[in-house]
Amino acid sequence: MSRYYCPFCSSRNQFHKSRSDGVLICGQCGDPLMKKPLVDYKRVFGMITTLVFLTPLLIMIILLINNFTNEKPQNSNEFFALLAIDK
Ligand SMILES: [Zn+2]
Repeated sequence: MSRYYCPFCSSRNQFHKSRSDGVLICGQCGDPLMKKPLVDYKRVFGMITTLVFLTPLLIMIILLINNFTNEKPQNSNEFFALLAIDK
């Protein structure tokens, strides 16, 4: 994966050339290439936003699974005992 890109051409069909003085240029438009930033802030912000929206859902699913697995049979006995006392 190249660390340089042309901001004007689509990323799908970019090819890079080196000028006679050693500067990397775009093969299509001839503009000098830009260096990709190490941390893409847009991508980091998108990931944080996705996590903010997905975390409550994941917690809810985990709690639901825990609730089903920790179902105690004694609770149902207590429930039936209360029903018997009512009569
Ligand atoms: Zn270009």
